[in-house]
Amino acid sequence: MPTPVPSNVLFKIAHPDLYERNPFNVLNLPVDATAKDIRRRKEDIEAAFDAGTEAEEFRNMLPGDDDRKMPTRAEVEQLFSVLEDPEKRIAYSLFWFWPDSSETPGGGRRLSNPNGEFGHSSVIAKWEEKARGSSAASSSPTVAKHNLAVFHHMMGLAYELALRKYNIKTADTPADVPQHWKAAIYWWNDVSEQADFWHAVSENVSALDDPRLDYRFARALRDQFAFAFDQINVELAIDFAKRGREADARRQVEYMKLSQPESDDVEGTFDDAFAGLLRQTEAIVKTSGYEADKMPREGLKKACEILSRTEESLRIARTIFEKGNPIRNSIITTIIAGVRSCLISFGNITNDWNACLSKTEQLFDIAETREQIEIVTKDKKSILSIIDSTREPCVICGKPIRENENACRINVPLYGKIAINDDNKSVSYKSKTLSFAICPQCNLFRRLKNENSFLDYPDIVAHPLVQKELNVGWNLGDKISDNAVESVFWERERAEAQPGIPHETTLLYEEKDLRRILKQMGRSDSDVEQALVRAKKFGICK
Ligand SMILES: [Zn+2]
Repeated sequence: MPTPVPSNVLFKIAHPDLYERNPFNVLNLPVDATAKDIRRRKEDIEAAFDAGTEAEEFRNMLPGDDDRKMPTRAEVEQLFSVLEDPEKRIAYSLFWFWPDSSETPGGGRRLSNPNGEFGHSSVIAKWEEKARGSSAASSSPTVAKHNLAVFHHMMGLAYELALRKYNIKTADTPADVPQHWKAAIYWWNDVSEQADFWHAVSENVSALDDPRLDYRFARALRDQFAFAFDQINVELAIDFAKRGREADARRQVEYMKLSQPESDDVEGTFDDAFAGLLRQTEAIVKTSGYEADKMPREGLKKACEILSRTEESLRIARTIFEKGNPIRNSIITTIIAGVRSCLISFGNITNDWNACLSKTEQLFDIAETREQIEIVTKDKKSILSIIDSTREPCVICGKPIRENENACRINVPLYGKIAINDDNKSVSYKSKTLSFAICPQCNLFRRLKNENSFLDYPDIVAHPLVQKELNVGWNLGDKISDNAVESVFWERERAEAQPGIPHETTLLYEEKDLRRILKQMGRSDSDVEQALVRAKKFGICK
């Protein structure tokens, strides 16, 4: 790194209104004005304000604009105080006309003619002559080059501000605008490369003889000059991009590229100038990401916030940079990463993956590079598979049934073991229903309706889930049959008659043997007769 930078004053003043706010311009003072000159001018202007004739004092402000707002008394006071700041005074003097010793006194200080009109062509022509070395004058061309740089720069900026102020259509941009910019860049590039220009700046610093300025100041101005110069076009580019004036924004970008002919890495330097856009995006994403981390339930809201709050940076980046530009890519990657992380926090805690899915789909409108598209595609797939895993599968094909699919439901009623109640007459049992979904594809030819009975569909009865229930003692049906009840009663009879004989063994009795057994057990006659009826019915007794 070079000498430590003692001041960033150039960056403070380098804005599109640089010349409109330049105290030397507004106050009509030469850059080499003495303290006495300044004091006298201040008194004159104050007197004019008192007399109400202040407009007269500012009519020579450059460049002329009929609708220009005249400075107020407070603004004038502020401008005089700027001149008391030695750093600012030197910085503003870089951007105002320098006197040329070979000219008539004051000749280089003011471009306006005595009538206050913007009549400068003769002065410009003289400078041109001198700067291009075609003048017979022996003096150095540096001052002339610098003054030409200032003049064209001032004109270029004045046009830009007017385009903005009057919302002039891009198509109506006068050809003068790019011409002034090209000349400004040409002369600034030329002069800022010259040692004697910077030597002159050092001399101006010395001439001020201000203890607040040390030897590093002129050097710092030189180091910062190109970046400060670009800062103005960056501001204009962003401003035009915000207003949707794409061509005007891109025009600024072209000027910046022109102004960096010496740089080995024009694109890199150029991107540095716009790095603020990326930093701004990163800050937004970081804040929302941090909040979503703390409160995951707010994650969806934070993801929306990131998308809306970075919308402008994104639009500017898309306007100013070509596809594939690193800054444009970084801004997009940053937004995508921020939205993803908020959505993941939100999805994990709420399981509302459907909401995450629709936000993720919005990222496809933003993603540009292969990597960005891959990330979003992968996320979409993961979310879809999470959603699928929580969906009910089709009982036939096993595929998850989508929310908007019109699945058919088949209910399989089951009843459990029948138990004889204490009254010896009634029975009780448990019941439940298995419910299955069938996807429309699987139902295509069956044309099942929800009210269809499961019994019509043997493949559903054969389904492992149904069979599993049957194996542990559940039975098919929503109503127990008389037979089923009878068999329960008979099962009890037999268990009592033949204790120790396993239930599964089927015995076949002669009727008289069975009657004897039952009588031996002390059953009443009517009881015995009822049991015999049941036994015959179930084929246990012949
Ligand atoms: Zn299916």
